[in-house]
Amino acid sequence: MMIEITEADAANELMRLARQIAKHNRLYHAEDAPEISDAEYDALVRRNAELEAAFPHLIRPDSPSAQVGHEVASSPLRKVAHEVRMMSLDNAFTDDEVEDFVARVRRFLALPEGAEVVMTAEDKIDGLSCSLRYENGRLVRAATRGDGQVGEDVTANVAHIADIPQELKGAGLFDIPAVFEIRGEVYMSKADFLALNTRQAETGDKIFANPRNAAAGSLRQKDASVTAARPLRFLAHGWGAASEVPAATQFEMMRKIADWGVPVSPLLVRCSSAAEMVAHYRSIGAQRADLPYDIDGVVYKVDRLDWQERLGFVAKAPRWGIAHKFPAEQAETTLEAIDIQVGRTGKLTPVGRLKPVLVGGVTVTNVTLHNRDEIGRLGLRVGDRIVLQRAGDVIPQVVENLTRDEPRDPYRFPDHCPECQSEAVAEEGEVDVRCTGGLICPAQRVERLKHFVSRAALDIEGLGEKTIIEFFQLGWLESPADIFRLRKRRSDIVGREGWKDKSVDNLLAAIEAKREPDAARLLFGLGIRHVGAVTARDLMKRFVTLPALGDAAIAAREGGDATAELLSIEGVGPVVVEALGDFFHEPHNIAVWEDLLSEVSPPPYVVETKDSAVAGKTIVFTGKLETMSRDEAKAQAEALGARAAGSVSAKTDLVVAGPGAGSKLKQAAALGIEVIDEAAWAEIVKAAG
Ligand SMILES: [Zn+2]
Repeated sequence: MMIEITEADAANELMRLARQIAKHNRLYHAEDAPEISDAEYDALVRRNAELEAAFPHLIRPDSPSAQVGHEVASSPLRKVAHEVRMMSLDNAFTDDEVEDFVARVRRFLALPEGAEVVMTAEDKIDGLSCSLRYENGRLVRAATRGDGQVGEDVTANVAHIADIPQELKGAGLFDIPAVFEIRGEVYMSKADFLALNTRQAETGDKIFANPRNAAAGSLRQKDASVTAARPLRFLAHGWGAASEVPAATQFEMMRKIADWGVPVSPLLVRCSSAAEMVAHYRSIGAQRADLPYDIDGVVYKVDRLDWQERLGFVAKAPRWGIAHKFPAEQAETTLEAIDIQVGRTGKLTPVGRLKPVLVGGVTVTNVTLHNRDEIGRLGLRVGDRIVLQRAGDVIPQVVENLTRDEPRDPYRFPDHCPECQSEAVAEEGEVDVRCTGGLICPAQRVERLKHFVSRAALDIEGLGEKTIIEFFQLGWLESPADIFRLRKRRSDIVGREGWKDKSVDNLLAAIEAKREPDAARLLFGLGIRHVGAVTARDLMKRFVTLPALGDAAIAAREGGDATAELLSIEGVGPVVVEALGDFFHEPHNIAVWEDLLSEVSPPPYVVETKDSAVAGKTIVFTGKLETMSRDEAKAQAEALGARAAGSVSAKTDLVVAGPGAGSKLKQAAALGIEVIDEAAWAEIVKAAG
């Protein structure tokens, strides 16, 4: 297959695919809560393989094709003792304190007044300190700072951070010491942090307060595949245990570390006076907002390593270094209103409207309040005086409510969607409140209609996003049933720009072709939360017709037998039952459902299964199949009463492997799962007749 894509786009897409696939692996294996169908998962893996084949030099160190399954650590992170304690630095807040620091160093070393003390100066990145132990140039262990003496082992986690090489450049050739621990900060860039929070918000996952928390939360994971899915970076700023330090100065040593392939700050310079140091501090401060990552100050270190040695330590901090901190960026203002925004997935997000205030040089008028719990935590009400902080440099957040003790009624988080008045509910254990009116909620409707006609759902050709929005704005398309009434508007559509008789007829024909749609696809197309394509099929196998399913879902709201019946279906858990209950609790949704069923007549859902050797088994296809497509093989499996899965797990019964099968094959071997080739598969299919 020809791939028409630029190299830069391919690199970007490979990065996204690595993250997506890692995420779906985790959801599937670690959380048993897949969000996409096996087919969608396979499509991601296929796309990744295609791009890697076309651009072999872009294959990532964390490439999904190179991962051997998915590692789930069985215990919390292991503790490791640091051979050389990880220090923290004393802080300076004023220019005078910087001068005092230089004077102290000079006095300690008994240098004459005015003698030059060269210092390095570099930006102090706001991340999570980490020590990387290299032995003979190979990474053998990574550990967090912990309490300085004992940290946590994150070796498996950092394996996915591209900035942290598994092997130092030039290992075995140059002057890399037998043991060398590189120390620095694991961090997340501002852009990656914002994108992560957006994704987290969309999936209803935890929102991180700032990039530092996001980096720490991402690195300190039992499950290294979670880390793999997070865009972490690393910057070195020093070293710990070393069998040898092949340089005479801090600056030269940092250059060597950079030469070995570990990033160091591009803003690292040498200064020969306090005045130069402070000037560099100001210069970095001026660039702060434009740097790709958050910093909270500038670090100065005595450059000569023999002097560092003589200076030694006081308590937990070295005498030869100090952190010159930037002032905190906080401001007070009034919360004038709390608006609720409804996202395209139905999530209700409270947004604080503020009396405009300047924080760190930027006028802030809005602040996200994240969710109901956050409002409760701060006791926020309209009219409160609040302290606002720009977390690092990125997004403003409310850190304190100065008037929370004033006797006023608490803010009441809406229990109905402001857009459509449907009930808004939070699922058990979740902080996010969501609108349940998916199909009638204006905020969600276009997304839902797009989903309804998408390939995995009803698959109506010619009804794309542009057309949906056009018809939606005309008021012709508000719910799925309206799609099947478009034929009555034929003459109106033909009269519109961009439509011709033929294109309208093609569209209407594509719609008419779905008058008797597959019931499971129709159910999936409704976009009920947690009812994915696989769950929809599992439900339809049991209930056969949509009205029967609807009755069961409504009855299940009362608990009892109906709930038990739903729960007895493989792949259906309490989360699905609750989501079905929420959907069918909403009269609007029932109206949409009945309206739709008055337009379409899905035939009873019967999966014709043949008596076969693989009935009831879970099968994974991997590698290249030579006589059929993966989709065809899966269809065969389903016709034989088997379940085709996208990845190998303990639930897998059989793996069918073609040439080029990689990690899944290894995983199958590790789990002792039976593996057969394509010819043997063909025999099974043939035997079932
Ligand atoms: Zn709504």
